[in-house]
Amino acid sequence: MTFFKLGDDIADTRAPDVPIEQRWDKRRFDAKLVNPANRRRHSVIIVGTGLAGGAAGATLAEQGYHVIQFCYQDSPRRAHSIAAQGGINAAKNYRNDGDSVYRLFYDTVKGGDFRARESNVYRLAQTSTQIIDQCVAQGVPFAREYSGLLDTRSFGGVQVARTFYARGQTGQQLLIGAYQALSRQIDAGNVEMHERTEMLDLIVVDGRARGIVARDLVTGQISTYLADAVVLATGGYGNVFYLSTNAKNSNASAIWRAHRRGAYFANPCYTQIHPTCIPRSGEYQSKLTLMSESLRNDGRIWVPKKAGDTRSPDQIPEEERDYYLERIYPGFGNLVPRDIASRAAKNQCDLGRGVGPGGLGVYLDFADAIRRLGEDKVREKYGNLFEMYDRITGEDPYKVPMRIYPAVHYTMGGLWVDYDLQSTIPGCFVVGEANFSDHGANRLGASALMQGLADGYFVLPPMLGNYIASSKFDKVTEAHPDVVETVNEATGRLTKLLSINGERTVDSFHRELGEIMWDECGMARSEDGLRKALGRLPELREEFWRSVKVPGTGSQVNQSLERANRVSDFLELGELMCVDALHREESCGGHFRVESQTPDGEARRDDERFAYAGAWEFGGTGEQPILHKEPLNFDYVHLAQRNYA
Ligand SMILES: Cc1cc2nc3c(=O)[nH]c(=O)nc-3n(C[C@H](O)[C@H](O)[C@H](O)COP(=O)(O)OP(=O)(O)OC[C@H]3O[C@@H](n4cnc5c(N)ncnc54)[C@H](O)[C@@H]3O)c2cc1C
Repeated sequence: MTFFKLGDDIADTRAPDVPIEQRWDKRRFDAKLVNPANRRRHSVIIVGTGLAGGAAGATLAEQGYHVIQFCYQDSPRRAHSIAAQGGINAAKNYRNDGDSVYRLFYDTVKGGDFRARESNVYRLAQTSTQIIDQCVAQGVPFAREYSGLLDTRSFGGVQVARTFYARGQTGQQLLIGAYQALSRQIDAGNVEMHERTEMLDLIVVDGRARGIVARDLVTGQISTYLADAVVLATGGYGNVFYLSTNAKNSNASAIWRAHRRGAYFANPCYTQIHPTCIPRSGEYQSKLTLMSESLRNDGRIWVPKKAGDTRSPDQIPEEERDYYLERIYPGFGNLVPRDIASRAAKNQCDLGRGVGPGGLGVYLDFADAIRRLGEDKVREKYGNLFEMYDRITGEDPYKVPMRIYPAVHYTMGGLWVDYDLQSTIPGCFVVGEANFSDHGANRLGASALMQGLADGYFVLPPMLGNYIASSKFDKVTEAHPDVVETVNEATGRLTKLLSINGERTVDSFHRELGEIMWDECGMARSEDGLRKALGRLPELREEFWRSVKVPGTGSQVNQSLERANRVSDFLELGELMCVDALHREESCGGHFRVESQTPDGEARRDDERFAYAGAWEFGGTGEQPILHKEPLNFDYVHLAQRNYA
């Protein structure tokens, strides 16, 4: 049985046909401009205040547009971006270790296992250097080395040190930078900020995005907001797996509702499983914690050579340890890309060499680094991460190796956008983790912050200006039938959720969904498993709408209602992820189909059949989704089997 229909191919028509290093300049030059005096007549809705949305809001308001911005947290600066630890990449080449824009471009295309669009990745690499200048000007306290230059470290999948960082709090410091720029604009009256307000649906009038329906999470009031364009900066959807390193409230609703209104969803099955997370400790855990990839700069990963060895790590002599990443991938050692490190950890655990409860862990050991650098230096670099580990596990990583295991961390999939960051709904732009982004099938570490800020500070503003300058905006009021219909649908959905009054909690559905997704669409995926998931997911969805229990009312703070609304979307998205994973009969990056591997157990791509981005169109409730393929051309980084040995 097939689970989808095939539609026409789709293409990005916005990147100019000139040599890659000239494309972004040419696109900006060709783009129409809005006269500064006219900008204040145009309004833009931005949903999200993380690095992508915060940067976009501050920049567009600074340019003179009227910005109406939303987040569900109680402050824009609590967006999930605040959790980012390790760093942000940029091709500054301060170390003169061979880095360049071209190398960052090359590493990212290769790291993404040749499933990203070259034009976008090249622009990302070009823009990376501007981001650092912008953030330094804002006062972001990046780590510095003795000479006074900004310090850098290495992340997976590269052989240069291009990752800028602020201890283990890079996301927080960058977000404070964006937030202060945004606050200035809020204070100036150019940004109308709505905290604790959740977008429920996208308003599309005459085929264009013209507003959103949103719910005040404190009073329950449902309101309509109208504008000339809508920007979605709503983050990733890793929480479809229930357990992930994402903030508990991160969700897919904004992009999923836009998808239902016509925005294509690209590569939904590309999920990043991060190798260095604190292992799960029990059945009732609701959140997983990341240990930053930066730790792999100095920490060495190993397992006992003997399966089932239960001795404590200090009792296992050097010659009885297997530093398996250093052994299998000597060129990159502990800094292989995340997909490869995660799979290798799983393979070791499958061989019975895992450590800790249930054998689901491997060691990340700092003994060598402490001997080489001294404990003080290690504390200076990673102090807050070590403290976090100690608080959660009760083990002191200065004395015993950390135990780590892969966990869901990031979603490379998201709404399909063209080179201008515009979705298939005109006027609906998507930035940051919410779009299908520049990372292909596997994101290299420290490149999400780079992409979010590139999108928000540098790419979106001129492209949105081009859209506004090229369009005519008829006045839309709340009485417009499309607006009324969208409000009614959003309200009706919440009323329905509240009225079911069944016997199962929202969390129990979410947990079951997460288990199915992890087992069948997680680190390894098989045709049998995916078909099994696609059998069970529609049943689970029906059961949800029959027997979920949502206590309370809609006119108060009601977190069960918020969660139910989000889980109802995750249930639909989970199904699309499995359809996407099933149709892609190849392994690439984070998408590992057990049927498609090399004799060494590495991912085997099938470029003949699958060198495309899969953009899914919503086929209607209960109908099959429609696949549109965007063929990917590799004119600069030639298609090759990845090799990190
Ligand atoms: C623990 C952790 C550590 C990480 N470390 C790094 C790192 O070191 N380097 C790196 O490059 N990347 C890192 N990442 C990834 C990176 O942090 C994220 O990809 C990035 O911050 C996402 O930014 P964003 O602006 O796209 O979305 P987010 O920061 O997730 O912001 C989403 C915003 O959208 C709002 N929102 C969402 N839905 C709605 C709705 N329906 N209505 C209203 N508002 C809504 C939220 O309120 C929020 O303001 C890390 C990720 C995690 C989980």
